[in-house]
Amino acid sequence: MCVFCAIAEGKIPSKKILESDKFLAFYDINPQAKVHALVIPKEHFKDFNDVTPSVMAEMTTFMQEVVSVLGVKNSGYRMITNIGVDGGQEVPHIHFHILAGEKLGKLV
Ligand code: 5GP
Ligand code: ZN
Repeated sequence: MCVFCAIAEGKIPSKKILESDKFLAFYDINPQAKVHALVIPKEHFKDFNDVTPSVMAEMTTFMQEVVSVLGVKNSGYRMITNIGVDGGQEVPHIHFHILAGEKLGKLV
């Protein structure tokens, strides 16, 4: 079982931010900003190439709720999903990073 499936099932503990029947948001174990959250669908998809449009549509609504709960909706944030080897993906279960809580260095 992959590490994020184990987190989704509660087999590995996580610091939860928001949970629904289909999605989970929790804090990254190795934060790269003052606020660093991860959002996953509970269903396993390897990456953005594999996820379905209907799951992404529902996840959009969930992520909008997550940034509200985090209190960063208006101050701003960055959302990243890494894909595959060149994208630097380490955990092969689609996840979106939400980085916030400070002025972030420009990437692109
Ligand atoms: P990726 O490089 O795949 O885009 O990001 C994986 C992220 O998952 C990393 O930022 C890493 O710190 C985080 N991570 C890996 N294992 C765990 C874990 O067991 N718990 C939590 N909360 N985060 C994890
Ligand atoms: Zn998984």
